[in-house]
Parts: sequence; structure tokens; C-alpha cells
Amino acid sequence: MVMEIMFLGTSSMVPTKERSQSAVFLRYGAEGLLFDCGEGTQRQFKIAGVSPVSTTKILISHWHGDHVLGLPGLIQTLSASEYGKTLEIYGPKGTKERMEHMFKTFIFDKKIDLKIVEVKEGTFIDTKLYTVEALPLEHGIPTLGYRFMEKDKRKINMKKAEQFGLKPGPIIGKLQDGESITHKGKKIHPDDISTIEKGAIVTYITDTKLCENCFSLAHGADILICESTYGSKLEGKGEEYNHMTASQAAEIARKSGVGKLYLTHFSARYKSVTELEDEAKEIFENTVSAEDFMKIKL
Ligand SMILES: [Zn+2]
Ligand SMILES: [Zn+2]
Repeated sequence: MVMEIMFLGTSSMVPTKERSQSAVFLRYGAEGLLFDCGEGTQRQFKIAGVSPVSTTKILISHWHGDHVLGLPGLIQTLSASEYGKTLEIYGPKGTKERMEHMFKTFIFDKKIDLKIVEVKEGTFIDTKLYTVEALPLEHGIPTLGYRFMEKDKRKINMKKAEQFGLKPGPIIGKLQDGESITHKGKKIHPDDISTIEKGAIVTYITDTKLCENCFSLAHGADILICESTYGSKLEGKGEEYNHMTASQAAEIARKSGVGKLYLTHFSARYKSVTELEDEAKEIFENTVSAEDFMKIKL
């Protein structure tokens, strides 16, 4: 399955010339999961050469403007296009009411089917291929962090399968689904001809102060996308406004056994975020500061 992550916005409250407000797009096969939708997200899609119509689910962390101001524009555009699917929108408590307010504020034909779900915590999406779970964060208002988990896959070793006299077909399919079979009087266990390939885990944490749930969400993640609004010199500001520093993001990555850390949601005061990246790297070496339109292929 093709899995790709694209940063569409990496600034915090105030966008800059180089950085748009928060949005991360995760493409997984035919699915397009959009984490947050800051102002200008639909234009960011266009610049990135990705059709906004490929969005199937929007996951909102919280209702501060810099994470949702792009929603009316994006929904208006999807409404005016041949969308043809039901757009699923997930968010914390209050999401339904705020969406209703939004449709009262703007005048446009809502020619699109929406499914709006308020998420408390735990697994709220469970498909054949992946799950998504959420945990509350500490940001002074209802805020959710998200964890996307690809399900483990069984990879068939065709050479081994042939040794058992098996050819591609429904029998192989059964073994792939984890069922044992009997072939020519011989019992074959899935492990005889296949190995388990671990699914990828992607965690999205913004906005919050450092809290226990950050570690639970990030545990064993291949990719951790984490807010780092400030550098350590402004840790006090982070505490005051319920945000984290680059070092705190790195601390989460180090203690949670993360593969790679991507810092995002930078305060507009930083013209260059090298200082923040360096600070994080001292604690967790495999750190990158995200930029708008940066792509990760998994
Ligand atoms: Zn924010
Ligand atoms: Zn916020």
C-alpha cells in the first residue's frame, strides 16, 4: 500500500511567507487523511499538486482558528466539485456544534454529504487495513492527539509456498489471512510460508503542553509529528500557553522509542528553526524540522 505524508502547513497561529497554518495530509492507498485544516490549506494542496478531492477524512485536533480556518473554504471547493463521497470529519467535543455554526456563518450550497463524529478517546476508525486512535491532550480546551496504525501484513514467500506445492490462488489467500490449510494431506501453517510485516505507525501531536498521553500516543511510532512551538529559552511561554518546546518533543521521541521525529507548528518569531532542530537533536538525533510541502514516503 502506498503511504505518503505531506506537510501542508507548519506554522503556529500566525502564518509566515514560508509557512502556512497547520495541516498534514496522509495518503494511504485510496484514502486521504487530513490532520487539521488551517487557513489556506486548499491552496497549499494546489501548490503541492495534490487534488483536495482526494481527502476522505479530516481529523481536527482542536478548534483554535489556526487548525480549522481552512475548513469552510475546503468544504466549499469539495461541494463545487464532483466529490461523490461522504466526507468524514472527526474532532473533539463541540465539533458538531461548531460545524453547524460554520454553515450558518457562510452562504454556499452544501452539496456534499458529511459525517461528523465527536471523538472522546480510544480507537474510532477501524478498517481492514488500519486503525486510528485518539487521546486527549492538555491545551486548555478539548484537544486530541492522533495515532494512525497500519495493520500488520502477512508477506508470502512464494519460493517456500512452491516447496509445499502451492500456486497463487485462493489457498494462498487463506494462508495470507492467517488460516491454516490442508493441502495434499499435509497441514500447512501460515508461518510455514510467510512472515509478518509490521504495519507503520504515525503519530500526530499538536497543540499541548507535555503530558502523559503524548508518550502513549508516540509509543513505538515510526513517525512522530510533534509541535515544537518554542525553543527552550521560551519554555515558560510554552507552559503559559499550553505548548511545547523542541526539547520536550525530542524527549517524547526518545522515551517512546520513535523512529523519526518531525518538528512542526513553529512560532512565527523564528525566521530560522535551526536553533530548535539542533536543540532537539541533542536529545533525539533522528530529528527533522518540517517545512511546507515536505514529503515523507513510507
Ligand atoms: Zn495551533
Ligand atoms: Zn491551539
